Amino acid sequence: MSYKNFPMVSNVIFGRGSFGQINDVLAPKRLSSKAPFIFLIDDVFKSNSWLTSRISLAYDDKIIYVSSAEEPKTSQVDKLVEDIILMTKEKPSGIIGIGGGTLLDLAKAVAIMLTNEGPAKDYQGWDLVKNPAIYHVGIPTISGTGAEVSRTTVLTGPERKLGINSDYTPFDQVILDSELTKGVPTDQWFYTGMDCYIHCVESLTGTYLNKFSETFGDMAIELCRDIYLSDKLSEEEAQESLMMASWHGGMSIVYSQVGVAHALSYGLSYLLGTKHGIGNCIVFDHLEEFYPDGVKEFKEMKARHGIELPKGICADLTEEQFNIMIDVALSLEPLWENALGKNWKKVMTREKVKSLYQKM
Ligand code: NAD
Ligand code: ZN
Repeated sequence: MSYKNFPMVSNVIFGRGSFGQINDVLAPKRLSSKAPFIFLIDDVFKSNSWLTSRISLAYDDKIIYVSSAEEPKTSQVDKLVEDIILMTKEKPSGIIGIGGGTLLDLAKAVAIMLTNEGPAKDYQGWDLVKNPAIYHVGIPTISGTGAEVSRTTVLTGPERKLGINSDYTPFDQVILDSELTKGVPTDQWFYTGMDCYIHCVESLTGTYLNKFSETFGDMAIELCRDIYLSDKLSEEEAQESLMMASWHGGMSIVYSQVGVAHALSYGLSYLLGTKHGIGNCIVFDHLEEFYPDGVKEFKEMKARHGIELPKGICADLTEEQFNIMIDVALSLEPLWENALGKNWKKVMTREKVKSLYQKM
């Protein structure tokens, strides 16, 4: 038996207000006055001087505001890399992603693609990256995806939605400052937080489960229950708890896998552009058969926070469109194997996948 040897985020700061240390963290990493730091920031913060005023730009440092209205695409990564190469005299000293999973994944992908030739789509998959990435920093402003800690950057390419999974993907530095999450709208707080909850359920009930994944998953799911099913936390405590739940949920899947909800949600996202958090919620709501306890608890959380999920999103799809979603979902073999075991193909036929999509 050969066990996987995973890299991890090498440096992390945790604490309310810790974002204020950003300049001190970056200063020793500057390679030269011609090698700037590039900040990729969610454009929701464009007019938010509270956040941006704490970043001291020097020399050729730049802020690039990026919309997270759509999930990251390989073509978007290629364009950003090209823009950065054109606007800088030397390779950047670092890429800093500030935002949710969308911006964190973009920062990881751009850092990788600045040192690896060709288009980003060529690196979607497992362990295809050849050269170490540029120093990259992740600063989440919404909690749940675990993108701050994971070994992947999920991108939609011309043929598939699949991550660049590699030893060079994890951040070199993460700053976990729960104060940055204070403006997140309630519905989005629920969807992205449920991404974490679903990571835990899929990891904890999967066939790939081991003590490493189980212990992190247990911690994360307990935190989710405190946040979404009790009144025992203050608002600030809940923000800190969700930040750590996201981290532990991400750690849990590093050494296991996600499952049915993620496989189906990737299909929705690829065809309909449904975003990850809400997409997972729409799917998970119909998965009692696979995750009876998790779905029951999820419905309690949904009711408690008055969340209404869209219905009938697959009602008008053509046969061809169903086939596209089914292809995307079924191509994610490790997810199905984790969820249903080695003989998953006998259970999860194309007809079965279609019947699940038809419920949504
Ligand atoms: P997101 O990054 O798309 O952000 C969701 C919304 O919240 C956006 O409208 C954004 O502008 C807004 N927002 C973020 N921070 C805010 C703040 N502080 N105040 C107000 N609004 C704020 O959503 P997400 O759910 O964090 O990330 C989804 C993405 O993460 C998907 O692309 C998914 O594929 C990816 N993902 C990656 C991993 C991984 O391991 N790499 C894991 C899960 C999901
Ligand atoms: Zn997820």
